[in-house]
Amino acid sequence: MERTQIISWLTQKEATELNKLWTIADTVRRDNVGDEIHLRGLIEFSNICSRQCLYCGINAANSKIQRYQMSKDEIAECAQIAKELGYGTVVLQSGENRRLDVKFLAETVSEIKSKTGLAVTLSVGEWDADTYKLWKDAGADRFLLRFETSNDELYRKLHPDSKKGVEERFDTLRLLKNIGYEIGSGVMIGLPGQKYETLADDLLKFKELDLDMIGVGPYIPHQETRLGANIREFTLDGESQVPASEEMTYKVCALARILCPKTNIPATTALATINREQGRELGLCRGANIIMPNVTPVKYRQMYEIYPGKACIYETAQACNACITGRIESIGRTIGKGKGTSPKFAAKRGL
Ligand code: SAH
Repeated sequence: MERTQIISWLTQKEATELNKLWTIADTVRRDNVGDEIHLRGLIEFSNICSRQCLYCGINAANSKIQRYQMSKDEIAECAQIAKELGYGTVVLQSGENRRLDVKFLAETVSEIKSKTGLAVTLSVGEWDADTYKLWKDAGADRFLLRFETSNDELYRKLHPDSKKGVEERFDTLRLLKNIGYEIGSGVMIGLPGQKYETLADDLLKFKELDLDMIGVGPYIPHQETRLGANIREFTLDGESQVPASEEMTYKVCALARILCPKTNIPATTALATINREQGRELGLCRGANIIMPNVTPVKYRQMYEIYPGKACIYETAQACNACITGRIESIGRTIGKGKGTSPKFAAKRGL
């Protein structure tokens, strides 16, 4: 699909036309990744962060939140719960803590692998090649690192502590791929300062980077951040600003599916946050094929507030599972078995 066509879908307002986009995306999804929905148990193991990301509620400058770091045993316990609930993967996510003991994380990964055999995905930010290799050797399978926006000027504004801008993110993703990880990335939709052209470039970048996983969600303002507290100052005038809307999120999910047919695409928690009733289901019918139920202990969940009003923060892992299973059945889809490796990655590796 050409850039101009992507922009015309992104700016399309007619419901009848959009219905065509949803139908195409749903067909491409069925033909390429099937009806199974894979579940990934999300463990938010620490909110300690050294970075200054302007949009994120757990950025280093937010002194109002209590910081935590789960122990190896606590993390392994969550992985065990994920296994008992039938999930094929756990995702270990945290702030980007420069003082993190990288060996601690390697040991945690290898313990999870040996005790549960689950696929392990890391989502812990930017590190050097040796560290990424250490975790890979410990058994980590996948890595999620969103590039957040492909527009370098906007990227630098949102990440004042970035040295080389967004190219650094792209380089890091290529590095992770070379080391042998399945790689995932994504962007936020409706970031103040984001134009339609930028969002179209983001989508084309997904394809160019040959991602195994793509996660997109609406930007949700957080008052204790520089962006959330000064949103007007960053917002573009008139029609050029992309809205952080539910519909725009579906458009990006659908277009990502059409551009990258065999990629794993989750219906994200941010989407469920802006439409609690139906966000996940609609995402799954407009391109998505993955859900990431939260298995973080409830006592920590509310402290991992990257944005306010996050869906599911008071539910236990078991309650999240029951709710999500019901939602999947309600739309006539089935729960995937096994690790749910991206079909593209699996084909390349002869898996
Ligand atoms: N520290 C890790 C994990 C970050 S949290 C890393 O940097 O990769 C995962 C994602 O949440 C981020 O990549 C970002 O896209 C999203 N996020 C952060 N703040 C948000 C906000 N205010 N609204 C919506 N999504 C947000």
